[in-house]
Amino acid sequence: MNFFCRLFGHTWVPVTDNPKIAWNTKDDGQVLHASPSGETRFFDECVRCRERREVVPTRRFPAAKPAEAAKS
Ligand SMILES: [Zn+2]
Repeated sequence: MNFFCRLFGHTWVPVTDNPKIAWNTKDDGQVLHASPSGETRFFDECVRCRERREVVPTRRFPAAKPAEAAKS
């Protein structure tokens, strides 16, 4: 751990993995199909020591959570 991180604590900054998406045609040769190389993941990263901690992103809109909308 960085000396300053020990002193002040980590300075977390949100970052995301951005997996590349390959666009290729299939047998028909006309329509492009996306094949992502990985899943998008969300992290907090310390700007000083590059330590990472994974974050579960919260949904911004309640409409995206039908289970909770049904409760109220
Ligand atoms: Zn740190």
